[in-house]
Amino acid sequence: MRKICVLGSTGSIGVSTLDVIKRNPERFSVVSLAANSNVEVMFEQCQRFKPEKVVMVSESHAKVLQARLSEHDLAIEVLSGEQALCDIASEDSIDTVMAAIVGAAGLLPTYAAIKADKRVLLANKEALVTSGQIFIDALQASKATLLPIDSEHNAIFQCLPWAEQEKVGACQLTAHGVNKILLTGSGGPFRTYPLTEFNDITPEQACKHPNWDMGKKISVDSATMMNKGLEFIEAKWLFNVEPEDIQVVLHPQSTIHSMVQYKDGSVLAQMGNPDMRTPIAHALAYPERVDAGVDNLDFFTTASFDFQAPDFERYPNLKLAIDACKSGQAACTALNAANEIAVEAFLNNEIKFTDIFKINETSVKKFVLEQVTSIEEVVHLDSRVRQFATTIVKDNAVNHV
Ligand code: NAD
Ligand code: MG
Repeated sequence: MRKICVLGSTGSIGVSTLDVIKRNPERFSVVSLAANSNVEVMFEQCQRFKPEKVVMVSESHAKVLQARLSEHDLAIEVLSGEQALCDIASEDSIDTVMAAIVGAAGLLPTYAAIKADKRVLLANKEALVTSGQIFIDALQASKATLLPIDSEHNAIFQCLPWAEQEKVGACQLTAHGVNKILLTGSGGPFRTYPLTEFNDITPEQACKHPNWDMGKKISVDSATMMNKGLEFIEAKWLFNVEPEDIQVVLHPQSTIHSMVQYKDGSVLAQMGNPDMRTPIAHALAYPERVDAGVDNLDFFTTASFDFQAPDFERYPNLKLAIDACKSGQAACTALNAANEIAVEAFLNNEIKFTDIFKINETSVKKFVLEQVTSIEEVVHLDSRVRQFATTIVKDNAVNHV
């Protein structure tokens, strides 16, 4: 029986994780849950899964949840605050952590889980983008296991030789005949949208992904293809490859979730319906397989497999992220932090869709030469970049950057 802590349980990945767990009660038990502020969904999850502990980051929401649980005679300990996230992710009572908080807010709890030798299922790509080598060094120094949840990285993992699957963070892919990682992406909702109308794209349009149902932040990232950029950086660290060994391939149907090309000409692909419960079930049960509640792929109704090269004029954020990956850690940390501020401002109708790129580019330029060699320095740089990007938004200076 695996004993699981779900960080970000009320979000899209969190809910899908609990769905897979519910289907396999003989294998998985929920020990702790954590979320930011969604008391209603957390209360329902407490009723259904009866965890020992839950964390609501905000103290006021924790109080409301505690009162509701008491009314229903549910004896569940409710904690609050960021330190509590790190505590439940590293406790002896659990062996597995689903890291599904969105954004750099997930960094410290995920890092704590690694240092506590847990089996870490990583959905929170921003943690790895933000800290890169520092995160991987901590992984190497620990007895923790890292398994990718992001559908592309989970697909790549599944297409790797068995021995390399055991070495996430320190793979030697060239030695095992791999010559390229083919990172697929749908191109999002604006793949064929007129470029001249990009200025007027609304948050509602940007959040309507053609194939995947996801949280708002990653939906906007998919529309700008910053998501693929963050995944590019994520792939570099997970599979220990150089940026030159990763190629982004647009595949609008999202049936192939990514591929690995070998030097003998073979290309291995992992396919399936676009449903995150597949990679979640894979990582939860690895190396075994369990029911995920996902329909089999029907090749007779699957329309077609199309592929194209990404257009950087349409997706400047993707280019910015690939360049940041080549530049170094400060560029990646700055890009991620700026992007979180810019996406939030866009979702609040404070800036235009096209301003996201301007804020990101300006922030990377400003902070690219900083040195980040420890987790504390990552957190400090992240916070300075956020202040800088917020100033650009608040001063309404976007048009001048
Ligand atoms: P979401 O917005 O639906 O959910 C985010 C979760 O994190 C919620 O439970 C929320 O309460 C919690 N949270 C938000 N801010 C927090 C904070 N400051 N402290 C603690 N908890 C906080 O997001 P999502 O779509 O589930 O994505 C989660 C992560 O998984 C992201 O890093 C995303 O890039 C990654 N991911 C998601 C998908 C997907 O299909 N949704 C696919 C691949 C990767
Ligand atoms: Mg993905």
